[in-house]
Amino acid sequence: MANMEHDNWNRVKSRLRSSVGEDVFSSWFARMDLEAVQQESVHLSVPTRFLKSWIQAHYAERVLDAWKAEMPEVSRVDLTVRSAMRNVAPAKEAAPQAELRRHDQAGHRPATELRSTATAPVSASHEALGGSPLDPRLTFASFVLGRANTLAHAAARQVAEGRRGDPVMFNPLYIHAGVGLGKTHLLQAVAWAGNSNPERKVLYLTAEKFMYGCVAALKTQTALAFKEALRGIDVLVIDDLQFLQGKPTQAEFCHTLNALIDAGRQVVIAADRPPSDLESLDERVRSRLAGGLVVEMGTLGEELRLGILKSRVAAARVHHATFEVPEPVLDYLARAITHNGRDLEGAVNRLLAHSKLNATAVTLEMAEREVRDLIRPMEPKRIKIEDIQRVVARQYHVSRSDLLSSRRTANVVRPRQVAMYLAETLTLRSLPEIGRRFGGRDHTTVLHAVRKIEALVGKDTALQDEVESLKRMLAE
Ligand code: ADP
Ligand code: MG
Repeated sequence: MANMEHDNWNRVKSRLRSSVGEDVFSSWFARMDLEAVQQESVHLSVPTRFLKSWIQAHYAERVLDAWKAEMPEVSRVDLTVRSAMRNVAPAKEAAPQAELRRHDQAGHRPATELRSTATAPVSASHEALGGSPLDPRLTFASFVLGRANTLAHAAARQVAEGRRGDPVMFNPLYIHAGVGLGKTHLLQAVAWAGNSNPERKVLYLTAEKFMYGCVAALKTQTALAFKEALRGIDVLVIDDLQFLQGKPTQAEFCHTLNALIDAGRQVVIAADRPPSDLESLDERVRSRLAGGLVVEMGTLGEELRLGILKSRVAAARVHHATFEVPEPVLDYLARAITHNGRDLEGAVNRLLAHSKLNATAVTLEMAEREVRDLIRPMEPKRIKIEDIQRVVARQYHVSRSDLLSSRRTANVVRPRQVAMYLAETLTLRSLPEIGRRFGGRDHTTVLHAVRKIEALVGKDTALQDEVESLKRMLAE
C-alpha cells in the first residue's frame, strides 16, 4: 500500500482515538485495518461480524468524519469482515509475546505504526463467545508488582490458576481503583492465562459489550442462547462495571451473576468504585458483589512507576530494537509523572515517536520537553501552625514554649506576633483557632498581632525581609 495512504490511515486512527477516547478505541477499533482507498471510497476491515455491526451501528459517522478530515474527497467508508484466510488463528497455547513477533516477521506491522495496537488474534473460543478484544501486552508477565497492587494481583493469579472443579475461594473477585491504576491490565491477564488452559472457558467482557449482548439477544429473541452461552463458561470477567446501564441489562446481569456463582463458576469484576457506590445497581446486586473479595488498588508509588516504565520500554523494544531510554530519563519520568499508568504509557510512546521520527537518541532534555503536559503541577504545600512556630522560634532564637507562653518581654512578643501573622496569612485557620494554638489566646489578640505586623512590614524593610525569608523557609 502506498505510504501516503498509510500515513493518512494512521492520522485517521489518531483522530478516532482522540474523539472516542482510549478505552473505546482499543475496544472497537484496535483491530480495524485499511484495505484500500479508491477515489472517494475507503475500504476497511475488521476480524469479526460482531465488530462490524457494532461499529456500523455506533461509530459509522465518526469513522467517516475522521476520514473526511484527512481526505475531504472521501464520501463513503465500506466495512467488511476479513476472511479467515488472512487472519490465521494462533494455536491456543501460543504465548502473546510469541504472537507479536510473528506479526513482525510477516511484516504485518508497518514501521510507521509506532503505537502497537492489539492486533494479535485472541483464542478461537474467546472470539466465538463474543468476548471483547484482548490486548496481547496485558499479561501477568508484564504486570509490575508494588505495594498498591500486591493483594489484587495475588487474588487475580489465584483465580487465573484455578482448575475446573476447584473450590472457588473468592467469588466474585471485585477489584476497584481509579483510572489508569491497572484494573484492565489485571483482568486481561486473567483472561489470557485462562485462555491458555484448554479445560477452562474464560470470557472477558467490558460492561458495554455485556449490554450489547443482552440488547441484541432480546431483539432477535435469542436471549436463551445468550444466557446459555454465558452460563456455560468457567470464568466470567467483566471490566468497567460502572458503565452497566439500563434495567433489562442489569436484571440480566443479576441473573447471570447469581447463576454463575451458584454453579461454582468464578466471576471477576473491575470498576472505578466499590460495590456500595454503584448507585444505579439494585441493592441485592450490590450486596452480592460485596459478598466475595473486594480489593482496592492504590495509587502507584514511585518504584512501581519506574517498574511500569521499564516494562513499557522493554515491550516497545520488541518492535524497535534501537529504542533506548537512559536510566536518568526513566528516573525523571517516574518522579515527575505521578498520576497514572496511562500517562506513563503515553510518555514512553512519545519518546518512541520522537526518537523514531527524528532518528535521535532519547535525552533528558528531550524527555522534559516531550512530556511537559503530562506533569501535573504539584499541590501547594500545606503549611501547619506547628511548622510556623518551629521556624519562627529558630529564626529568633527563642523556644516554641516561649511563643506559647504569657511572657511579654520584647524579645518574645515580636516573634510571637510574626508567627501569628504568618499563621493567619499562610493557613486557612480562623483567628479563634490560631489563638487557641498560641497558648489559648483570645482572637482579638491574634487580630491585633496581624494588624501590627501588617503595618510594620509596610514601613520596616528589615522586617519585610525577615518575613519574606520565613515564608520561603516554610514553602520548602
Ligand atoms: P485501568 O483499567 O485501571 O484504568 P489500565 O489497566 O488500563 O488501568 O492501566 C493503564 C496503563 O498502565 C496500562 O498501560 C497498563 O499496562 C499500565 N499499568 C498499570 N498498572 C500496571 C502494573 N502494575 N504493571 C504494569 N503496567 C501497569
Ligand atoms: Mg480499564
